[in-house]
Amino acid sequence: MSRPIIRIGVSACLMGEKVRYDGNHRRNSFVTDILAEHFELVPVCPEAELGMGVPRETVDLEGDVAAPKMIGTHSRKDWTASMNDWTRQKIEELASLNLCGFVMKKGSPSCGVHRVPVIQENREPLSEGRGLFAMAYMKTCPDVPVEDELRLEDPQVQKEFLARVYDLSSLSNNPS
Ligand code: SF4
Repeated sequence: MSRPIIRIGVSACLMGEKVRYDGNHRRNSFVTDILAEHFELVPVCPEAELGMGVPRETVDLEGDVAAPKMIGTHSRKDWTASMNDWTRQKIEELASLNLCGFVMKKGSPSCGVHRVPVIQENREPLSEGRGLFAMAYMKTCPDVPVEDELRLEDPQVQKEFLARVYDLSSLSNNPS
């Protein structure tokens, strides 16, 4: 009997796709050499898919750490509403794929999971935020394990992440 397909979402730049603001990628060997062997990877690049362009202006998170705005670094263009709208639609689309995990790019104003800088009124960053896509995904899909590539360098974090991926996939394949 063939094994069921287990799908994991991945920030597309970690898969080697040249979608970063500077036209580069951040290929991550744990993703491309280990995860890709065992799982079907689903690449997502919120900024490129939203149509912000490649290359593009960098954006920053600003204001309320729990609900920050996404603002162009030099132009001051406010991307918040369009990113949040795109994110809602993308999460709905991803629901049909039953993702069992997500690996996100660290520090990104879209994909960052932990300690993403959010600029305060005094222009100082508070490193307590989360990227807009990552935040919405984790709120909407609280059972899906989400990690960033930096934390996944730790073998213990890898082990726990993979255990949660397999647990969720067995629940999805054998619903009670
Ligand atoms: S961190 Fe996220 S938004 Fe930025 S390039 Fe990678 S996938 Fe795209």
